[in-house]
Parts: sequence; C-alpha cells; structure tokens
Amino acid sequence: MLTSVEGRSVVVTGSSKGIGKGIAKVFAKQGAKVLIVARGLDDAEATADEIRSEGGTAAAFSADVTNSDSLDAMASAAAERHGGIDILCCNAGIFPQNHLENMSSDEWDLVLGTNLKGTFLTIKSCLPNLKESGSGRIIITSSITGPITGYPGWTHYGASKSGQLGFMKTACMEFAKYGITVNAVMPGNIITEGLEGLGADYLQTMAASIPLKRLGSVEDIGNAALFFASDEAAYITGQTIVVDGGQTIPESIEALEEA
Ligand code: NAP
Repeated sequence: MLTSVEGRSVVVTGSSKGIGKGIAKVFAKQGAKVLIVARGLDDAEATADEIRSEGGTAAAFSADVTNSDSLDAMASAAAERHGGIDILCCNAGIFPQNHLENMSSDEWDLVLGTNLKGTFLTIKSCLPNLKESGSGRIIITSSITGPITGYPGWTHYGASKSGQLGFMKTACMEFAKYGITVNAVMPGNIITEGLEGLGADYLQTMAASIPLKRLGSVEDIGNAALFFASDEAAYITGQTIVVDGGQTIPESIEALEEA
C-alpha cells in the first residue's frame, strides 16, 4: 500500500480527455486536488465536473503548453485554488501523422513545440511552486514510439518523445537539490476516445500484437504516474516505466505466436 497522496495539489496538462483525464481521475480517487488543464475550457470543465460528481476535488483551467504566459497563469491558479503544486504531470501532446517526405517545417515545429518545448515551458512555469513543495514530483508522459519503436508518419512525434527523455536526464539532476524528482511513463497503445472510433476489428488486431492481449487503459498510465508521485518512489529520479502490456518485448512475430 502506497502512502496516500490525499490533499496534495496535482496539475495535469492535457487532462480534458484521454490519458491525461485517466491520470487526473486516478489522483482524484486517492484524494488529491487536481487542476484539469487543456486549451478547450468547456472540455476541461466537463472533466472537472465529472471528478467532482464522483466525490473528488478538481478545478479546470485553460492553458496552452506552447504559451508561457498561459502556463504562468496556470501555475498561479493551482497555487490559489489548491495551495501550491506538489505534483506536475506533463502530459499534453499531439500526434498528427505524416510521412517525412510530405512534412512541412511548420508541422515539425508544431509537434516539437507542443510535446518537447511544451514540457520545458510547463516545468519552468511550475518550478517555483514545486520548489516550495519540498518534495515535488514531475511525471512526463513520453511514449514507446521514439525511444523504443518507430511508426511511419511519426518522425517528428518520435523525436519529441525521445527528446523528453533526454531533457529529463539533466532536469532531474538540476532539481535534485530541491527534493524534486523527474520521471517518465512510456505508454504503449492506450485506449482513448480517439482510438475507440477506429472500430472493434482494428482494436482487436492491435490487441493481438500485444503479449497481454489487450490495449492499455488510461488508468494503467495513471497508476504508474501515481507510483512515481508516491513517497515510496522518493529515491527514484530520471527513470522510466514502460506500460505497454509487453508490446515491445517479442523479438519477432514468431516469438509472439509461439507464446
Ligand atoms: P488526446 O486524447 O488527444 O488528448 C490530448 C489532451 O491534450 C487533450 O486534453 C487536449 O485538449 C490537450 N492538448 C493538446 N494540445 C495542447 C496544448 N497545446 N496545450 C494544452 N493542452 C493541449 O491524447 P492522448 O492519446 O491522451 O495522449 C496524451 C499523451 O500521451 C501525449 O503526450 C501522447 O504523446 C502520449 N501517448 C499516448 C498514447 C496513446 O496510445 N494514446 C501512447 C503513448 C503516448 P485541447 O485540445 O483542448 O487542448
């Protein structure tokens, strides 16, 4: 049993839906106070409402991780509403698919600007509050795509997700003196609202390529983030957890089928 995160203030970027919403709900269920952040305020409000209706504590805020002024305002809102920031989940991310030969420089900049620079800007804005916390936790949502695997159409995305891990290795050293840890969760294929639209056949084919024979849930990622945020993970920094049902393990299709 992990020491409770009850009463701790958590900011989750990109939490109006998908994995971020799952992370926010896992923390709220444990009694943490969660700030739901996305560009779209209506969706963020709807998620905060849903958490409150389930007995949790949540507020919504509109911020764009490419805009440092809005991130400064987000950090101030978390401090005002929830008394500081103890845990920051850098989760907001985009993944437009386009092959390299058709990719424009602007598209590259948008993906790197959101996923990688957005992580830097989010952490920078929240750092004063995380320092005040005394045992701040930063959890980055990276991916298996980039650091471990490749997928056509995602050169920019893969670079951004690998970049987050390179960034983390030095950030965790710089922040150690403040008692802040920085770790990353690397999700495999996770069921989100976007994927559900692809249909049962497609999802079944995807699940077949995973040793545990199912796609991940958003709660699977939330639970890994919760561990990194716990007191029990206080001595872990600059590390990753792959949450992929074993997807990156088989060395060949034959190996998967033989099992
Ligand atoms: P999603 O369902 O598309 O949700 C993305 C969330 O991020 C939304 O709340 C969106 O709200 C917000 N967002 C997007 N751009 C933003 C910006 N510039 N500023 C602030 N918020 C922004 O995505 P997801 O699949 O849950 O992915 C979440 C994270 O997990 C990403 O970092 C992604 O790389 C990673 N990941 C996902 C999977 C997967 O299987 N789904 C696998 C590996 C890693 P607004 O549009 O209103 O801003």
